[in-house]
Amino acid sequence: MKPPDVLIAGAGPAGSLLAILLGRDGIAVTLIDRPHPRQHMPEETIPAAAGPVLERLGLKGLFAREHFFGTPRRGVCWNPGAELKVSCSSMAPADRGFKVLREVLDHELRVMAVESGAKLLDATVQSIDGATQSVRLRLTTGREQVLQAPIIVNALGARGARLSARVCESLPAALALTAHIDDAGAGADITVVEAVREGWLWWMPRAIGGSVLTLMADADEVRQVGAKALFECARRGSCGPAQQVTNTCDSGTAATPELFEPADGVLHCGDAAASIDPLSSQGLLKAMISAERTAAAIRTLLSTATLRPAVESHLRSFHSGMWKTHAQETLDWYGREQRFPEAPFWIARHAVLPRYTTPSVQLPSVLVRRERLIPAPILICEGGTLRERTGYLAPHTGEAFHQLGPLSIDNLLRMTEIPGRFEDVCRRALGLQGTCLHSEGELRGLLAEAFRLGFVESFRAEIPRAPSVRHTMQ
Ligand SMILES: Cc1cc2nc3c(=O)[nH]c(=O)nc-3n(C[C@H](O)[C@H](O)[C@H](O)COP(=O)(O)OP(=O)(O)OC[C@H]3O[C@@H](n4cnc5c(N)ncnc54)[C@H](O)[C@@H]3O)c2cc1C
Repeated sequence: MKPPDVLIAGAGPAGSLLAILLGRDGIAVTLIDRPHPRQHMPEETIPAAAGPVLERLGLKGLFAREHFFGTPRRGVCWNPGAELKVSCSSMAPADRGFKVLREVLDHELRVMAVESGAKLLDATVQSIDGATQSVRLRLTTGREQVLQAPIIVNALGARGARLSARVCESLPAALALTAHIDDAGAGADITVVEAVREGWLWWMPRAIGGSVLTLMADADEVRQVGAKALFECARRGSCGPAQQVTNTCDSGTAATPELFEPADGVLHCGDAAASIDPLSSQGLLKAMISAERTAAAIRTLLSTATLRPAVESHLRSFHSGMWKTHAQETLDWYGREQRFPEAPFWIARHAVLPRYTTPSVQLPSVLVRRERLIPAPILICEGGTLRERTGYLAPHTGEAFHQLGPLSIDNLLRMTEIPGRFEDVCRRALGLQGTCLHSEGELRGLLAEAFRLGFVESFRAEIPRAPSVRHTMQ
């Protein structure tokens, strides 16, 4: 039998979608998952903002089902001020987003993977070896088997990531403690997120009736106080639907955001590359975007195997960038809740916030591009593959860049070739082809980032001030 081009360990959303995308290109894929896959939560939410990504990936139809729509109302209680109450808003149909039954979603994605040509194998992955490009499996018969392929992907989720990676960064350890409630009562049509002393509570009515109440708690505090005692305290501190129920938690799962550093020779995808805080409700979306980029990496490797080190490094920095952006956003949210300065959950998260806050940069009054930048080859994702382009090493960090957001480094350097004030740079930006900036504020932010990275610097000599002109960008 012909060996597969790609072995994907893990048929969760990331692994299955990757198999679908590769299968559409006729790439031979074997997809491996346990005979009885485990899920974190019975249902999860996807924000409405994910619509364009679902459309691009050809998944819109899968989600356009009544039972997959989000609840008609949302509630939040986060640093509420004097009046302790959940503030509720009704959601227009287009803003409701999706609430997916994970068992159904995972099953349907696997069916789509098989329909697009992937071979699905029921087996437990025991080890992954990047050096020999092999995966050791235990089959349902109890027999062991070793499979090899030119490309091996670990999409085994955060726990399975450790088979071929080490944790290189993480946020404070968190546990999700969950209670299943048979009758959601008056809270049947509303999803509520509320901060409590012990962490944050998430009330989510289920499509099949009842509700799930989850406490995201600090793992150390759970160990000290006990899961049930902590859950009970959190429930009593609630001012939302959680206060009306008496259930205690019946399951717990790790929910620590972690960034993994894969071993050479193995590509990581989805949570196995980086897992994020459930507060953002973007884990599934991130898994899909990760699968899309991993598919681009694999297409590149299958056509140009010599690019392997560059492709592996591209995927690592792609996942690391995405993880850091999420870490920053969720920690910002935790920073906004100021009611519990003595509580372990909040102390731990507020303590790491400064590490992920980009220091604000004051733009110098006159800017000029830095001379003698060092060119460096860099891979850019274009048209579903990674293409080699010339970038430049950022003088202050040593990272290679080809773009800063929508602005190419080449255009940035053209705009700042002659020393000038912000207004001068703005005027030059308007005259450049291929620069799609929406506002002066956006350009100011990009210049501040370019200054932080060292692509532009402060020009010390005095230059005469030009008469002031207003420039408006499209
Ligand atoms: C408490 C909690 C709540 C969350 N809520 C949301 C939410 O509301 N919205 C959202 O978008 N995201 C949410 N997430 C995140 C979301 O669940 C993940 O981001 C998503 O599941 C990642 O998909 P994946 O395919 O990368 O990994 P997984 O879904 O973990 O899939 C991994 C697959 O690998 C298989 N596997 C693992 N080990 C082995 C092995 N040794 N052998 C064979 N197979 C194996 C598993 O059976 C599984 O099918 C939440 C996460 C947590 C912890």
